[in-house]
Amino acid sequence: MQQQALLDLGARCRNSALTYVIFWLVLTMVHGMAESHTVLVVLVALLLLGLAIARIIFIDHLPTLIEHHYKRSLLGFRALVLVHIFVWGCLCAMSQHWAPARSMHTYMIIVGATLLQGGLVSMAFDRVLRTAFPMSGLTPVVVFSLLAWNQEGFVVAVLCTVFLAYQVMTSRVVGGDYWNAQFARLTAEERAEQLELISQTDALTQVPNRRFFNLTIELEWARARRDRRPLSVAMVDLDFFKKVNDTYGHPFGDVVLTASAAALKNALLRPPDMVARFGGEEFVLLMPNTDLEGARVVAERMNQAVRDIRLSSGDVPVPVTCSIGIASLMPGVGGNMQQDIDNLLQSADLGLYEAKHAGRDRVCSKEDAPRPL
Ligand code: GH3
Ligand code: MG
Ligand code: MG
Repeated sequence: MQQQALLDLGARCRNSALTYVIFWLVLTMVHGMAESHTVLVVLVALLLLGLAIARIIFIDHLPTLIEHHYKRSLLGFRALVLVHIFVWGCLCAMSQHWAPARSMHTYMIIVGATLLQGGLVSMAFDRVLRTAFPMSGLTPVVVFSLLAWNQEGFVVAVLCTVFLAYQVMTSRVVGGDYWNAQFARLTAEERAEQLELISQTDALTQVPNRRFFNLTIELEWARARRDRRPLSVAMVDLDFFKKVNDTYGHPFGDVVLTASAAALKNALLRPPDMVARFGGEEFVLLMPNTDLEGARVVAERMNQAVRDIRLSSGDVPVPVTCSIGIASLMPGVGGNMQQDIDNLLQSADLGLYEAKHAGRDRVCSKEDAPRPL
C-alpha cells in the first residue's frame, strides 16, 4: 500500500513541476526583469527547468525504482520536491529584499502560496511532505523577513507562520481522507478475494469444489493440447458410505469425508495435480501431464492413503476404503473441449463402476473390464 501511495504521489506531482518555470518566465517578462537582468532570469529559469525535468524523469522511473529501493525512491522524491519549493521560497525572499525585483514581490508571494496550496493538496497523505513542503517554501521568506528587522518583515514572518500552521492542519484532514479511502479499497479487495476463495472451496472438506474443478480442467485441457501432453483424471468414491452414515450417524459420516479429503490432498505429490470434491462422497483427481499408467500409480497411492485413515466411533474402529476409476486423454488439435472432458469423466466413471463391480477398494480403468463396458 505504501508503494502504491508513492506512485500516486508521483502521478499527482508530475506535471505541476513545470508550473514553476512557467510562472517565473511570465512574471519576469511582465515586470521587465527579463530585459534588465536577462542572465539572472535565464539562469534561474534553467535551474527551475532542470529541477522540473529531473522530477519528471524520476517520477516516470518510479515503478522500477520502487521495486528495488522503495526507501531510497521515497527519499529521492521528497528531496526533489522540497528543493523545488525551496528555490521558489528563495526567489520570493529575493524579490522582497532586492530592489530590482521588488515590484514582482506581491506576485511572487501569490504564486508561491498557490504552489504551496496546490502541492500540499496533492501530497497531503505523505506525513513528512505535508509539513516539510510548506516549511521549505516559507523558511527562506521568514528568515529574510526577520533579517530585514523592520515592521513589514515582521508582519510577513507572522503571516507566513500562520499560513504554515493552517496548511499543516488542513493537509492532515486531506491526508486522512486518502488513507481511509485506501483502507476501504483494500478491505473491499480482500473481501472479494475471500469470496472468490469461498466460491471455489467445498465448505465441509475445504478442498476445491466441483465448480473450480470444472474451470481448472478446461484450462488444463487447453494446456495439454498446446503442449501435446496427456491429461488424466481419477474418480474416487468411498465404499459403503451409506452404511457408515446409517451405522454411526451423519456427523460421523462428515468426519470420514473430511479425513478422506485430507488424506487424498496429502497424497498429492506434484503441484499441478489437484483433488476436488465432485459431490456427495465422490472426489475427483486431476493430473495434468500424466498418462494412464502414471494415473494408475497416483491412484494406487490415493487408494492406500484412504485405507490408512484411522478413525473410530467410540471404541469401534471404522475402516475407510475407496474405489477409483481412472482415465486418460491426449487432446487432439481439432478436439472439442467440452466433448473431450465429458468423455474423459465418463471413462473414469466406467472405471469406477468396474472397481465397484470387481469388489471395491481398488483402482480400475474401463479397459480393465473383462468385457467392454
Ligand atoms: P458404494 O460402495 O457402492 O459407493 O456405496 P455407498 O453407500 O458409498 O454409495 P451410495 O451412493 O449409495 O451412498 C452415498 C451416501 O453418501 C449417501 C449420502 O447420504 C451420503 N452423503 C452424500 N453427501 C454427504 C455428506 O456431505 N455428508 C454425509 N455424512 N454423507 C453424505
Ligand atoms: Mg457415490
Ligand atoms: Mg460410495
